[in-house]
Amino acid sequence: MKLVVFDFDDTLEDFRPAKHKVAKLLTKHIKKKYNIDNFGEEFNQFEEHQLKIGMRTKNYKLYARELWMKLILAKHGIKINNKEADKLKDFYWLNINKIIKPMKHAQVVLKTLKKRGYKIALLTDSDGTKKIKLDRIKITGILKYLDVIAYADDLKTTKPEKKFYNYIFKKLKTKPDKMFMVGDKPEFDLKLAKKLGFTTIWIKHGDWAMKEKKKPGYVDHEIHDLKELIKFTT
Ligand SMILES: [Mg+2]
Repeated sequence: MKLVVFDFDDTLEDFRPAKHKVAKLLTKHIKKKYNIDNFGEEFNQFEEHQLKIGMRTKNYKLYARELWMKLILAKHGIKINNKEADKLKDFYWLNINKIIKPMKHAQVVLKTLKKRGYKIALLTDSDGTKKIKLDRIKITGILKYLDVIAYADDLKTTKPEKKFYNYIFKKLKTKPDKMFMVGDKPEFDLKLAKKLGFTTIWIKHGDWAMKEKKKPGYVDHEIHDLKELIKFTT
């Protein structure tokens, strides 16, 4: 059996442009409501902060955006209740879902992989609840290509974590002999995968590509477009 495991955000889904557009809306919204400047930018920067803690503590709920709303506003001395935090979270995802798109060439690449006999899995961290992620998987039109989805919400953990891969192998009823892992955040998506026998492919897209300039040793290939996958996965 042959397998390709994909990360979702900034790998199969083009999250970056949506994230930055919605940050602007968020800034406007929060300025009006709480008179705080640059909230959207602060919100996007908060991701890295939460990822670091999430990696250490394995608490997948740390990626719930209502929590970020609360924590960032608290830094500005504003205390909001759960209902208000939920409303801000809904504002965020509603606007993301209006503009979110699949990554360029995602559909044609997934279709080609299927034709070549690959199983396709998605491995994704939580956004707070499974539904939030599933909605975007549907909107981007990739659901029909997926054989397995390993949600952090089901596995109650965060990347990187062996549980995700064991779950995928269990669903496929085997550990495939040819395996690829594709992701945009090398430390979270590729380091462990390499140890587990995957060929690792770093898609240099999203904010991470700019942060991490050098190719880590556990990355086998760098690509800038999903279409390049075609040449590795014969
Ligand atoms: Mg990603």
